[in-house]
Amino acid sequence: MPTVADLARALEQVAPLAYQESYDNAGLQCGDPQAEIRGVLIALDCTPAVIDEALRRGCNVVVAHHPVVFRPLKRLTGANEVEQTLIKAIKSDVAIYAAHTNLDNVLPGVNRKLAEKLGLENLRILDPKSGTLGKLITYVPTTHTDAVLQALYAAGAGQIGNYSACSFRVEGTGTFTPGTGTSPFIGEPQKPESVREERVEVLLPLHLHGAALRALRATHPYEEVAYELVKVENTNQDVGSGMIGELPEALSPAEFRRLLRAALGVPVVKHTEFDRPIKTVALCGGAGSFLIGNARRAGADAFVTGDLKYHEYFGAEGQLLLCDVGHFESEQFTGEIFRDLLTVNFKSTFAVLIAETLTNPVRYDF
Ligand SMILES: [Zn+2]
Repeated sequence: MPTVADLARALEQVAPLAYQESYDNAGLQCGDPQAEIRGVLIALDCTPAVIDEALRRGCNVVVAHHPVVFRPLKRLTGANEVEQTLIKAIKSDVAIYAAHTNLDNVLPGVNRKLAEKLGLENLRILDPKSGTLGKLITYVPTTHTDAVLQALYAAGAGQIGNYSACSFRVEGTGTFTPGTGTSPFIGEPQKPESVREERVEVLLPLHLHGAALRALRATHPYEEVAYELVKVENTNQDVGSGMIGELPEALSPAEFRRLLRAALGVPVVKHTEFDRPIKTVALCGGAGSFLIGNARRAGADAFVTGDLKYHEYFGAEGQLLLCDVGHFESEQFTGEIFRDLLTVNFKSTFAVLIAETLTNPVRYDF
C-alpha cells in the first residue's frame, strides 16, 4: 500500500516545497510518513470537523491547502482550533499534509484552476520568480554525451517552457594527468592525456540539483567528473505568483462580474468603478493584493482575488476592475487539483474524497 511519504513525493513533484514562500509551512504537518494510506480526505482547511469527517469516512490522511500549523507552536494544550485539530489528528492516527504557496506558485496550481473556471485562455504566470534556476555545465567524452544528457533530462534538467531535452554542446579538447592510485577510464596514471570531449550545458530547477548530480555521476565514465553548477538570475516562467490570460471575447464590467458570480457561486463581488471592456484578466487565489501593481503593469483590465482591504481599492479606480470574490471562494476548486493528482498517481489503491464539511468561516447576509 502507498505510504504518506509516497503521497508527499507525488504532490511535491508538481508543487515542490522549494517553491513555497519564505513565511509558509507547507508539507507534512503531522503523522507518520511510513503509515500506509487507507483513504485521503481533501479540504481547503483542516479543522476538528474535517478530522471527524475523515474518521467517519475511513480516511487516515487529510490533504489541505492551508497549513494547519502556520505559526510555530510553543505548547499543545488544545487552547485553540489549531491545537485541537492537531491533538485530534495525532490521537486518531490521521496524517495532515498541506500544499499551500508551493501550489499557488506553479503553473498547474491554484491559479490555473481558477482561470480555467473563468474560461481564460493563453495563461501565463503573472509574476514569475527568479532565483529558482541553475545551469549545469559538464565535460563528457563524446562517446558518452548522449547517455549523460538522457540521465540529466530524466532528473529534471533541460526543460524550458514547453520544450524538453534542451541542451547546448560544443566539442573541444579536455586534458588531465591521472594521479597515482587512480584507475582512469582513459589514459594511465602519471601520463598527461588529452581527449575529445563535449562541453554540455543544461538549465535545471535548482531544487533538483542533487538528483541531477547523482545522475551525472552515475552515467559519466570518469572517476572525477568535472562540472560547474551556477545559479542564474533568469525568471522561471513556470513558477511564480498569480496568473494572467484573456477571455475568449471581451465582456462589459457588469457581464464580467456576472460571470464571476456564476462561475464561483458567489453571491456578491466587491469591486472598483471601471467602465471599459474586460478582455485581459489577472487573478490570484486567496489574498492577492500584493499583485495589483503587477496586474496593472501587465495591462490587465480586471484583477480577481480575495481579502482586499479598503485602502487597496484606492488607485485602482478607473485603472482596472478590481474584484474581491472572497478568499475561500477564489480557492474553492483547489481540492480538484489534489483529487486529480492523487487519482492519476495512485489509481484506485485508496479512496480519494473531497470533504463535505464547509470550512469557510465567512457567511453573507443581504
Ligand atoms: Zn488561501
